[in-house]
Amino acid sequence: MSLHTKTLKQLSDELQNKNVSSVELTQHFLERIEKFDAELNSFVTVTKDQALSQAKQADELIAKGNASPLTGIPIAQKDIFCTQGIKTSCGSKMLDNFISPYNATVVEKFNGAGAVMLGKLNMDEFAMGSSNETSFYGPVSNPWNTNCVPGGSSGGSAASVAARIAPASTGTDTGGSIRQPASLCGITGLKPTYGRVSRYGMIAFASSLDQAGPITQTAEDAALLLNAMAGFDPKDSTSVEKDVPDYTADLGSDLKGLKIGLPKEYFGEGLDSEVGDVINAAVEQYKTLGAEIVDIELPNSGLSVPAYYVVAPAECSSNLSRFDGVRFGYRCDNPVDLEDLYKRSRGEGFGPEVKRRIMIGAYALSAGYYDAYYLKAQKVRHLISDDFKQAFEKVDVIMGPTSPNVAFNKGERNDDPIAMYLSDIYTIAANLAGLPGMSVPAGFANNLPVGLQIIGNYFGESRLLNVAHQYQMNTDWHTQMPEVYK
Ligand code: GLN
Repeated sequence: MSLHTKTLKQLSDELQNKNVSSVELTQHFLERIEKFDAELNSFVTVTKDQALSQAKQADELIAKGNASPLTGIPIAQKDIFCTQGIKTSCGSKMLDNFISPYNATVVEKFNGAGAVMLGKLNMDEFAMGSSNETSFYGPVSNPWNTNCVPGGSSGGSAASVAARIAPASTGTDTGGSIRQPASLCGITGLKPTYGRVSRYGMIAFASSLDQAGPITQTAEDAALLLNAMAGFDPKDSTSVEKDVPDYTADLGSDLKGLKIGLPKEYFGEGLDSEVGDVINAAVEQYKTLGAEIVDIELPNSGLSVPAYYVVAPAECSSNLSRFDGVRFGYRCDNPVDLEDLYKRSRGEGFGPEVKRRIMIGAYALSAGYYDAYYLKAQKVRHLISDDFKQAFEKVDVIMGPTSPNVAFNKGERNDDPIAMYLSDIYTIAANLAGLPGMSVPAGFANNLPVGLQIIGNYFGESRLLNVAHQYQMNTDWHTQMPEVYK
């Protein structure tokens, strides 16, 4: 078994047993990036020198017996996390020249755990997109079929893990951007409960929805990463002051009597029938593991995409007002006055999707429209949360497809924003409600991976991870990888 096909857990054991050093492991992945990433385009920046020096330090810790499970493990960060002294672009021309003066809390936590950072991953511009085609650095290819998109916005995060050029990565999920690309690339992704992982230093898109999480081969690996990422942070006022359990502790529990809710709204019109078949087969598998299936309803599901496309643009128009050409980021050449500076810096620095969102958001928040749009959308959000509250009185987890279809061709949805927005029809509700959700590889349709979505109750990450882990102990979809990268 070659190094890159091993899980984080296995790599961690190899390091502790001194079968391989962190420097060797890091070099192995740097070589794979060099070999494969010209085609995939999953990295914006490869931090080779820093990675090798972190690996050296990790080897010293391991030699002294001072290692934690992530010491010496190479990972890659979505380019939305601020990294001190390293370009943090957020996939935008606006921040192409931005060297962050500080680290995001997530980055600090990985540093503290002794992990090695391979580099910064490509993403949709300011995390707006479902195909990784809005990036200033060009589209990312899906390792299963390079004509297809990897999903977005964490497309680089998903593609790099699927091609095993990074053992694991981080992503962020505002409306589905961890789960949807994980689904399209055949890997495991977890969006934690809102407030579980600090947003400090994570460039804001829609602050009431954004949440960071791990993208990995397995649920066990996701638990290892979440152990490092989660926790209260006084620097993030929405971070929740709640102890972090050991997310690997519950991974052994059996699923007898687990109540799985299947929302009828997630299996209706719009769902590709082959994707539906894969999800039904996964549910059958859960029955053999002792789970009970309960039919449920989430009656306001149909309102989640429209509510999201008011809330997210409104919050983004406010968050992105800081990019004004004055303080940091792109500045236009030879402005004639202040207004010209603002207009041209923003006009030239942002791409079309970001501009579309800013304009929708500014409109929705303007005097006279605030009540009709933003306030109304917030009320709808309550209805959606209440649907889940009622469902979780009857069931332990909710299952359905992550995405209505498999990876689509590059370019296919570029002229149709609504078709693109519908990619997240099953993922957005969890963000609006603040609930944790996962995507787990569950099979193939049309030779492309299909993800099973599992949504849990607030702070139910341990259960969610175990529910995914038990499935992975009994299936091998998560071990499948594209032939060329073996
Ligand atoms: N695709 C959704 C959007 O474009 C979600 C993005 C995300 O989760 N960051 O807004």
